[in-house]
Amino acid sequence: MAATATERKLFVDGEWIETGDWLDVRSPYSGEVVGRVAKGGADEAHRAIDAAESAMRAPLPAHKRAEILVRVAGALGRRLEEAAKLISDEAGKPLKAARVEAARAMSTYTFAAVEARKLAGEMVPMDAAQAGEGKLAFTLRRPIGVVGAISPFNFPLNLVAHKIAPALAAGCAVVLKPASQTPMSALFLAELEDEAGLPPGWLNVLVGPASEIGDVLVEDERVKLITFTGSSSVGWKLKQRAPKKRVNLELGNATPVIVAADADLSLAAMKVSQNAFAFAGQSCISVQRVYVERSAYEEFVRQLVPLVEALKVGDPSDEDTDVGPVIDEGARERILEWIKASSGQVLTGGELDGELIRPTVIANPAPDDEVSCEEVFGPVCTVTAVDSIDEAIALANGTRYGLQAGIFTASLDNGLRAAQELEFGGVTVNEAPTFRSDQMPYGGVKDSGNTREGPHYAVREMTEARLVVIDLP
Ligand code: NAP
Repeated sequence: MAATATERKLFVDGEWIETGDWLDVRSPYSGEVVGRVAKGGADEAHRAIDAAESAMRAPLPAHKRAEILVRVAGALGRRLEEAAKLISDEAGKPLKAARVEAARAMSTYTFAAVEARKLAGEMVPMDAAQAGEGKLAFTLRRPIGVVGAISPFNFPLNLVAHKIAPALAAGCAVVLKPASQTPMSALFLAELEDEAGLPPGWLNVLVGPASEIGDVLVEDERVKLITFTGSSSVGWKLKQRAPKKRVNLELGNATPVIVAADADLSLAAMKVSQNAFAFAGQSCISVQRVYVERSAYEEFVRQLVPLVEALKVGDPSDEDTDVGPVIDEGARERILEWIKASSGQVLTGGELDGELIRPTVIANPAPDDEVSCEEVFGPVCTVTAVDSIDEAIALANGTRYGLQAGIFTASLDNGLRAAQELEFGGVTVNEAPTFRSDQMPYGGVKDSGNTREGPHYAVREMTEARLVVIDLP
């Protein structure tokens, strides 16, 4: 284990527990052990659900929930560098991107605190129907119950924050299972919540075998909602297995961008170069497929390729690294295979730089190549010439995914058409679809999911309306 490696225990019912079994967390860059976490399983999961259910029997008032969330945001601000280093160590995320993620987690907590204070039901206009005359009615927003949360490796701090901060704002206790490759940032957040005065049971963090802990969350009826961020294959199966629960899914994408002939091509090339390769393309909204109107195609490619070649590939702990490793060898081999199998022309990259995949641009692949229709989740983007905006929209819509998409254009008509016709949860105009700010409603359609995150929207999902009808004298 590296001299700086940390050891973390599980957090259940307000206690830090050991299980006698440990999981090594390795740097995706060097393979070195950067941390060790206690490993739990079904027993700890049952204990965590018991603790969560019992915590919710003594509800925390909204002002206390908000104060805890504000304190966590403050602590994150003070320990930003430590958080960024943890993210970078365990996920292999370049330090500068890890700092952005840590700052965003602060913002997520701050927005969740606001939601805790303004959570309220609404009046029902009863005399709008004859049957309602003489009655007063309103709704209360009640916490849905224990929330089971499962998070992915690629934003190990902020995507955990997007689950546990809104849950607390909503008044729900949480049992969280972070990704096994990146559990330390989640346990770090638990430490901050503990220090912020969160009473026992409100947050429980378990690391261990996904299917074993997942099974407990699916089967235990006390878990009323599962919030899952990860791959489409795992997410939809989980939903099928829990028909009586609310199962909120934030899944993958094969993010398209349209570049119209009238676009600011330097802006579009710059945004694509930044947003296809940051964190080696391992964001669910990394730019993957670029469709360029034919008259602008040569010029766009001429501008894009040198920008991609200028990206610094290397050690994620170096201050100026832009592109680091992908999460593991399996991912690296799959991505290289997909590049090799594509019928398109590799304009740059397509090979290893040491152990790292060089940022890769593929021209005009076939629509049914994996790089065109599946989620690459690696430092690869395709550029395809199209004859019209119609064709670009049809190709952009031509996968099973629908998270975010974007268009670069000087025309308001093109922008508005794209906003209406792209079948995605979010559409950006003259901005890369990789853009996300943490208060936005964020989520997908089709195979990309069935919910919206962002504290305001997540809190709605994690609460239920209870109707109160009063007969007036
Ligand atoms: P993943 O393999 O699906 O894993 C996500 C989480 O699910 C991990 O905690 C994993 O645990 C757990 N898991 C795996 N099998 C399970 C099972 N049978 N039952 C219950 N839980 C199970 O995804 P990933 O590779 O970590 O993340 C990448 C994916 O996430 C990409 O598809 C990306 O697009 C998507 N993503 C979506 C969003 C969004 O907001 N839409 C954001 C970020 C990422 P283990 O780690 O222990 O296997």
